[in-house]
Amino acid sequence: MKSLWKAAEAAKFDGPLGLRVYTARLLGRDKSLVLHGGGNASVKIRENDLFGANEEVLYIKGSGCDLETIEAAGFAPVRLDYLRRLASLPALPEAQMANELATHRLRAGAPAPSVETLLHAILPHKYVDHTHADAVLSVSNAPDGDQRIREIYGDKVVVIPYLMAGFELASHCAREFPKQKTKNTMGVVLLSHGIVSFADDARESYERMIDLVSMAEKYLAAKKAWSVGLPSVAPPAFKRVEAAQLRSEVSRAAGFPLLSRCNDSSPFLSFARHPALARLSQGGPATPDHVIFTKPLPMLGRNVEDFSLRYKNYFDRNSKTAKQPKTILDLAPRMALDPDSGFAAFGRTAKDVGIVEDLYEHTISVILRAEALGGWRALDERHIFDIEYWDLEQAKLKAADALPAFSGEVAVVTGAASGIGKACAEALLRRGAAVVGLDRNPAIETLWKRPDCLGLVCDLTQAREVKAVIDKGVKHFGGVDMLVLNAGIFPSSQAVQDVSPDIWRSAMTVNVEANLLVMQACHALLKLAPRGGRIVVIGSKNVPAPGPGAAAYSASKAAMNQLARVTALEWGKDGIRVNSIHPNAVYDTALWTDEVLASRAKAYNLTVEQYKKNNLLRTEVTSKDVAELAAEMCGPLFAKTTAAQVPVDGGNERVV
Ligand SMILES: [Zn+2]
Repeated sequence: MKSLWKAAEAAKFDGPLGLRVYTARLLGRDKSLVLHGGGNASVKIRENDLFGANEEVLYIKGSGCDLETIEAAGFAPVRLDYLRRLASLPALPEAQMANELATHRLRAGAPAPSVETLLHAILPHKYVDHTHADAVLSVSNAPDGDQRIREIYGDKVVVIPYLMAGFELASHCAREFPKQKTKNTMGVVLLSHGIVSFADDARESYERMIDLVSMAEKYLAAKKAWSVGLPSVAPPAFKRVEAAQLRSEVSRAAGFPLLSRCNDSSPFLSFARHPALARLSQGGPATPDHVIFTKPLPMLGRNVEDFSLRYKNYFDRNSKTAKQPKTILDLAPRMALDPDSGFAAFGRTAKDVGIVEDLYEHTISVILRAEALGGWRALDERHIFDIEYWDLEQAKLKAADALPAFSGEVAVVTGAASGIGKACAEALLRRGAAVVGLDRNPAIETLWKRPDCLGLVCDLTQAREVKAVIDKGVKHFGGVDMLVLNAGIFPSSQAVQDVSPDIWRSAMTVNVEANLLVMQACHALLKLAPRGGRIVVIGSKNVPAPGPGAAAYSASKAAMNQLARVTALEWGKDGIRVNSIHPNAVYDTALWTDEVLASRAKAYNLTVEQYKKNNLLRTEVTSKDVAELAAEMCGPLFAKTTAAQVPVDGGNERVV
């Protein structure tokens, strides 16, 4: 492990807090040190208060902040003297500790101080760095882990047995640290949890972390327990309906829709086929705080009911002896390992799914290295339970109930790179859905750089391409719950006697047949949608009121309209709703080039300006107006509606 410190970068950060920000970010950059909000950092600074009294203030990472991206405002200032008095109390219940930390912040609007605040407070050094380094966890979770740690570090670290983070750990450390520390001490190993380094200088504290973790890495290498990669195996063909079926069952167990992501690459598939998988995977997490995202254990195979039963038993066993009454969380797994398909991560948001996958990738390497040292041993489930059902964590989870309406659901939008399709994707994203955006335009791949959006290039007229992108979407998000059929073409204006067969065929192929292919590829998936499948067809005013010169377009849109109606008839029994929207005069779309606009205006004997607001309400209809209606049609307002056709055209007297 190498120090990432760069003098030129460090020079951009001012003062002791600035350097704290910089080295905290350096810790966050190395995923084998900390992942997703794990780890911690602090600095103690002398400051004068308004009355001139000089005091030491602890700046500690705020709860929920990520080290990699933390800003100075992400550190909560608290009077050090007060924290040390708290740590010296004979006992301090969790809720009370949280209250004391929250009410003693010195800056209004500062985040809640981390639950590890008291540990940072009782250590005497100015800078304190804390990580959950993979290498240290591998050693400490191997047989005789504590002896191995002492063998590696000697008196360079103080060794603390596993204790729950918070008051208990800080108060034990406050007593134990002075007893064990020598002039060589530069850190603390928290067995089965992580490692702490400290110094009076930001760089030194950070580089001590690097040195300490490197020592564990060297130890692993010397014991032939460092390079433990499993032989890679060729992934089997992806089975999208099976994957969606599993996600559907997991969502049912949860009581709400969950996204899922399948990973059959290395090391996930190789690990899922490990001969000792049952023992290795059913011990517990690499470090307890993973449990908030992952639950204690992955599901083995596909039996969700069996997982739920085991999870309930685990809750019953451990809640009996808990200090406070606990409320059981949902019964669904967040991870699954299956020798046939590899790994699947589940979560209410795409971000959560990504976190679960990252955490387990590191967990696999921690497990395999500990195994190479003689046998992986996870922490006792009692301790895992204490973290999973910690009051503070339970409170955080309650906040998740306020998630947007389509959280955990997946929408596929065709023609999503521009115009109405792009607006639909954005309307669905705003409502919390994960979106697979399809388009012929390669710009779709980079249009949205966010975890809940997957842009894929596809020629929807090619059945093979359609199947391939739907496979990718299901592998990435778990299924298809909503389908917005928007992609279409508006051929240049031609009188009926002049319509060329090519123009006619391409209108029919793109505006009708491609939609048929997409619906066919999605039917089995829509049937499995946890809240029922929904299709919204972006039709056209031309369906009820065709325009002269637009024969191919109008005919193709009318054909699509009939297809949607028949689909509603046939798929109603599968719980799939099919509704259509008929927009008119939406000019912020790719269809409406200046040329087309001018030609249509001419056909009605209007100027372009008159043509734009040529409706009963004398209003302009935008892509966003159409998209908002499309998204609402997927929601509870239209839960009992199928085969509806709703105009969004400002009112058209030919339709009225
Ligand atoms: Zn920790």
